[in-house]
Amino acid sequence: MDREQLRSRIEEDLSGVVAGEVLCDAESRSLYATDASLCEVWPLAVVRPRTNEDVAATVAWAAKRQIPVHPRGAGSSLAGGSLGPGVVIDCGRFFRRILQTSGDGVRVQTGVIAAQLEEHLARGSRSLGVDPSNSCVTTIGGMIGKNSSGSRFPKHGAMSGRIESARVVLADGAIVDLVPTAPALPRQHALRDADDGPLASAITPATNGAERLVQLASGVANVLAVSRELIVASQPTTRATHGGYQLHDLLRVLDRDGLVDLPRLLCGAEGTLGIVTEATLRTVPAEAATAVGLFLFDSLDRAAEAAIRLRPLSPDACDLFDKRHLTLARSAKPAFDQLIPPIAGAGLLVEFSAADEQAAAARFDEAARRLQGPRALCIDVRRAEGAAEKAALWELSRSVVATLHGVRGTVRPVPFVEDVVVPPEAFPEFLRRLQDVLKQCDVTAMLFAHATHGQLHIRPYADPRDPAERLRLERLADAIYEEAAAAGGTIGGEQGLGLSRTPFFAAHFPELAGLFAAVKRVFDPEGVLNPGVVTGASPAQVAWRPPLAAQPSATSPPPLPVLTWTAEQFADEVDACNGCGTCRTQSPGSRMCPMYRENPAEETSPRAKANLMASLLSARLDPAALGRDAVRAIADTCFNCHQCRADCSAGVDIPAIVTELKAAHVNINSLDLHSWLLSRVDSLSGLGGAVAPLANRAIANPQSRWLIEKVLGVARGRKLPRFTGQQVMRWAARRGLTRPSRRSGPRVLYFLDTFARRHDPLLVKALVAVLEHNGIGVFIDPRQVSAGMPLVAAGDVAGARRLASTNLRVLAEAVRLGYRIICTEPSAVTCIVHDYPLLLEDDEMDRVVAATSDAATFLWDLHREGRLSLDFQPLSGPSQPATRILYHAPCHARIGRDKSPAEHLLRLVPGLSLDSADRGCSGMAGTFGLSRHNYRTSLRVGLGLVSAMRGGGIEAGATECSGCRIQMEQGTSKPTVHPVKLLAKSYGLLAGPGPDRLDSLLTGRSGLLTTS
Ligand SMILES: Cc1cc2nc3c(=O)[nH]c(=O)nc-3n(C[C@H](O)[C@H](O)[C@H](O)COP(=O)(O)OP(=O)(O)OC[C@H]3O[C@@H](n4cnc5c(N)ncnc54)[C@H](O)[C@@H]3O)c2cc1C
Ligand code: SF4
Ligand code: SF4
Repeated sequence: MDREQLRSRIEEDLSGVVAGEVLCDAESRSLYATDASLCEVWPLAVVRPRTNEDVAATVAWAAKRQIPVHPRGAGSSLAGGSLGPGVVIDCGRFFRRILQTSGDGVRVQTGVIAAQLEEHLARGSRSLGVDPSNSCVTTIGGMIGKNSSGSRFPKHGAMSGRIESARVVLADGAIVDLVPTAPALPRQHALRDADDGPLASAITPATNGAERLVQLASGVANVLAVSRELIVASQPTTRATHGGYQLHDLLRVLDRDGLVDLPRLLCGAEGTLGIVTEATLRTVPAEAATAVGLFLFDSLDRAAEAAIRLRPLSPDACDLFDKRHLTLARSAKPAFDQLIPPIAGAGLLVEFSAADEQAAAARFDEAARRLQGPRALCIDVRRAEGAAEKAALWELSRSVVATLHGVRGTVRPVPFVEDVVVPPEAFPEFLRRLQDVLKQCDVTAMLFAHATHGQLHIRPYADPRDPAERLRLERLADAIYEEAAAAGGTIGGEQGLGLSRTPFFAAHFPELAGLFAAVKRVFDPEGVLNPGVVTGASPAQVAWRPPLAAQPSATSPPPLPVLTWTAEQFADEVDACNGCGTCRTQSPGSRMCPMYRENPAEETSPRAKANLMASLLSARLDPAALGRDAVRAIADTCFNCHQCRADCSAGVDIPAIVTELKAAHVNINSLDLHSWLLSRVDSLSGLGGAVAPLANRAIANPQSRWLIEKVLGVARGRKLPRFTGQQVMRWAARRGLTRPSRRSGPRVLYFLDTFARRHDPLLVKALVAVLEHNGIGVFIDPRQVSAGMPLVAAGDVAGARRLASTNLRVLAEAVRLGYRIICTEPSAVTCIVHDYPLLLEDDEMDRVVAATSDAATFLWDLHREGRLSLDFQPLSGPSQPATRILYHAPCHARIGRDKSPAEHLLRLVPGLSLDSADRGCSGMAGTFGLSRHNYRTSLRVGLGLVSAMRGGGIEAGATECSGCRIQMEQGTSKPTVHPVKLLAKSYGLLAGPGPDRLDSLLTGRSGLLTTS
């Protein structure tokens, strides 16, 4: 049976049996062909199980046909642990429940994200303790698979110290609960397999769960008994772990308790012994008090020596950074630039904990004394005061791998040769040997280490697309691992062996690899579970990711790229996604990706879009797929909020990649009717405005809303803005604003968006009034047309280009006359600044882009220059409490900054009490939330924000984006206004009856929304 036939067989056999999803199409499989490593292997199929029985059925089906299975969590492995040619089982999609929490333990499904578990445990002042730097992404299953650890390894160890029991699907599909188990056979009578060294190979599996456990425990005990000397001899002299099965740990527990700790054996097994669906983990008390500081050194050698000096003090964490890393950190964040002097050649981030702050501080003081005393090693120390500074310092460590991953360019620090562990006392000498090896191989590398336990990450600079460089990397890996072995160290200590290190492990630690093979045979004699990882690889097997071609194929319709970049620039952009998976984050500290948060499936993640395009560009995915609905469906899971572009460590322009995918699809198929109509929302609004009374009656009438939904695709439950019928342009003409301003001094061109023009003339008047109040001349050029963002979001590049071209002429002319361009709608700014350069090549583009900003940024800049009039009047009467407003920063207004300038401006207004919403994306995303297809998704994404609006005490909302305003008023009777209106009101520029409260503003007709 060939692979195609096998695939249809899988669909036929499993689709009816599995409650979860069975994905066999090439598009879905392409998303599971890579992770954060440099490897690529296309799976035969992907199963996303919902139940333990789904996993069991899949494994049993595969085992019967000798097809391998590969468990996967978040796919953030740096060594290719979850990749393979068989069936990938994605446990990260549905296994996301925390099942039970007891005093010092927690039972979880293995797709739970580590950071979410920590958040849950923190409510009971507990913690998992194990702290990988990407805990907002990594799953518990992946952490068990890799035996993950983090900076606090010296205090909390790795996952093997946390696991108590596990529900596991074994290689034949049996579901068992693994617990430490006494072996049945006397260990001195260990079985020997005639050919294969220790252990009988194929024992018929027991059918009873308890018997099965004893059988497994006995098999493992035999391996341990027969190989005791070898295991002891190969054990690292530290507590540090190595890649693969933790046999020395098992031996220790067996000797101590007479039990084979089967759950512990799963840690580091990378899915090769069983697929873990649930686990009970031991928790630790949350840290009471800590002292954190950064010691700075003039050289790496001195930092390494300092780490040795600190060892007797048992720091909880001691992370070492080399000069290159410090330089990168300084250029990435201004805070680090202030913190770290350029002369620093290395740094050690050190943490001590204790029962109270004073005791923790005393431990840190002792460390400082040792490093700064008579034989001073460090040149300076930066000690964190308070929680915020501690978190900021920790950011240096937490973001280290992401920062390295994020370096752009064909030659960059790559994750191939890393994760070496050496005995701590050998660490300084090993660093010297390492520098020699790097010199001999003519390679530059970045170094990062958990120094007190000798754990070292080495990132050589290389171009992984160049076959010669790959060979060089393989030779370098060989040489470094050789040195590690000679120093009594090991490899794969924190991030496992995966596909990229298993062949080297076998070469450098052949005896241990032989024992691993023996253990593997106890659990999986047929080699069904993740073969080629931990055991069973040959050196020729490194599955390098193929290079990208500039476009799918010369003849394929349509040629990519559709946007203005060159084919090489486009391929480089796609290639810049390193698969780190940070865009799968669930951390509240980041806003990416609202769609993934709502539907945490791989295809929804930003990374999926880059992976899909990479598969097309490398021609692994048939270029004809560009016209298929499966590709469009993946592209449509992006609603163009741009948060990934802002938060991705490599700054990959995912929205532009998505536009390419959509544009290619549109070129082949054209837009469907509803998308076509919704992307022309400006024209529709224009028509509505022309017959405003009629249109307003229609949007308030349930029958006509039903019809509108059917014909236009606009969800009938969605509140819609009233049409005002007021002709903004006529008003502007009467005010003389439609001619270039004759004023001397600063002048702006106000670029109107659809919402302001058709639905909110009061906003236009408010901004004009605010600007004029500050002595700024305003020009509203009547030739401008809508920005075109809905067309870009739909993939109608030709349509968007036409609008962009008209606007560019108008804007360029104004810029030449010395105008700045400002918009009240943030998405219009994004469209001009980000999309226009990708739509059009024009000599004036850069100047237009540089001159364009949103109104709030413009006004805030005025304030910073001391030129903003501050004669604001209180927005509440003297005896009234301040008006409580919830401010929401729209996604497009936050690109590249933490806070929107509008928030800063509103804080200048007296009589306003401002709550910052901080509840992520509103979910509206322009026309996305209008569509009946997306209505429910949009509401779910925006639920946090809408709930905040409903909160007691909040009187109204404020935000710049019209879409967010619609969403904030959905499901609440409270109004939401543009911040500029509040400024105008506070300046006393908006006419209105009543006291100085906001009543007139908040009940004005233009602010009303009509529901069906
Ligand atoms: C930016 C970045 C920072 C990182 N920082 C750290 C760090 O500080 N410390 C650290 O240890 N690692 C780190 N890693 C490496 C990696 O993220 C971790 O090893 C992580 O634990 C992998 O989890 P995952 O959910 O992505 O698993 P995956 O990559 O999907 O899988 C990892 C392995 O576990 C197996 N597996 C997954 N689920 C199961 C299951 N249910 N049952 C059995 N086996 C399973 C897979 O087959 C695979 O072999 C980092 C990676 C990146 C990209
Ligand atoms: S898009 Fe960015 S954050 Fe996401 S996987 Fe790619 S590089 Fe990482
Ligand atoms: S633009 Fe927004 S929705 Fe699209 S992938 Fe990026 S974060 Fe997700």
